[in-house]
Amino acid sequence: MSKVLETRLEIDLNALEANFKLLKSYLSPGTKMMGVVKAFAYGTDSIIIGKHLVKIGAQHLAVAYIEEGVRLRKAGVEVPILVFYPQLEEIQNLVDYQLTPSVYTHRFLEGLCQELTHHEVDALGVHLKINTGLNRLGFELSELDSILTHLESEKKIKVAGVFSHLAASGNKNEVEFTKSQIAKFEEARGFFKTHLEYSFESHICNSSGILNFPEAEFDMVRAGIALYGYGNNPEEHRLLKAVASLKTVIAQLRTIQKGDSVGYERKFKAEQTTKIATLPLGYADGISRIFGNGKAQVLVNGKKAPIVGNVCMDTLMVDVTGIACEEGDEVEVFGKNNTVVDFDLQQQTIPYEVITRISQRVTRVLV
Ligand SMILES: *Cc1c(COP(=O)(O)O)cnc(C)c1O
Repeated sequence: MSKVLETRLEIDLNALEANFKLLKSYLSPGTKMMGVVKAFAYGTDSIIIGKHLVKIGAQHLAVAYIEEGVRLRKAGVEVPILVFYPQLEEIQNLVDYQLTPSVYTHRFLEGLCQELTHHEVDALGVHLKINTGLNRLGFELSELDSILTHLESEKKIKVAGVFSHLAASGNKNEVEFTKSQIAKFEEARGFFKTHLEYSFESHICNSSGILNFPEAEFDMVRAGIALYGYGNNPEEHRLLKAVASLKTVIAQLRTIQKGDSVGYERKFKAEQTTKIATLPLGYADGISRIFGNGKAQVLVNGKKAPIVGNVCMDTLMVDVTGIACEEGDEVEVFGKNNTVVDFDLQQQTIPYEVITRISQRVTRVLV
């Protein structure tokens, strides 16, 4: 019987380090690495991961919200932290904790300048976000002149960076589109290089950008998913090592007979004598109901066992017929030996979603 008695998300910093080194090997030595640790470092632990990334050489970190940056500062992280989606109501914290906002619309720029009149701050460094085709957040190229005009009359803001985000950098069928994004970004960058009297940092590559378009490294890259061991296509997955392993134990084993059913709504009906293991984790822990009814498989003593029936809130059942196992045995839901790609065997979603959804109820453990 295993010593492990609960559901846990194991975090492997050696894997993080290997992924970090691999990404660095695609880049020129001087290119800076921004470690993206938004959403609890993609569902792992932003403090553990953020601190370790800084230790192994990340010069910057990035989060989505100001509150996420504040947590890192309170834990002692001192490197610049870019906030992708800052809220005006939180500007006091942004200033107090020396976080760097992404500025992506005139509305936000005006709001920020307005807010800053109430704060003691010399010149707040901001990163201007340019829309080059993702059509999510960012200024249009046609707005560059008006941004500049705005900035020239504004003493409290300085451009510390100019950046954009790629829409399909891991997709071989979209190479031309990605190149057009990079070209548009070059244009925006050139504009600010010409008109600003000081230097700033330029960045466009996310994980797949680093792996497939390292020529667009500029001054810095923003690595997220690849640090955690996944990419956007099978070749990328193969290069990387899973950082997070979701483990649990078999809570109960039973053998059911032909015609017996498993779980709510009786979605699984046994066609023969079947051995069922109940695992103490469910959709409240982040294993979505989309993975029920044979759509995902976990690893029980080295063997793949499909989830059967509907996933419950706190439990799910797997078919362990033919697998030698006992109550209390450890199960790898996904991770090092059963990657998210193997777990989500029908590719109903992407590794980003699977790992970020592991709920805070699950204990994080360093291994
Ligand atoms: C999340 C995010 C990243 C990281 O992307 P990955 O594909 O996970 O490497 C980079 N930049 C921005 C703006 C993001 O929102």
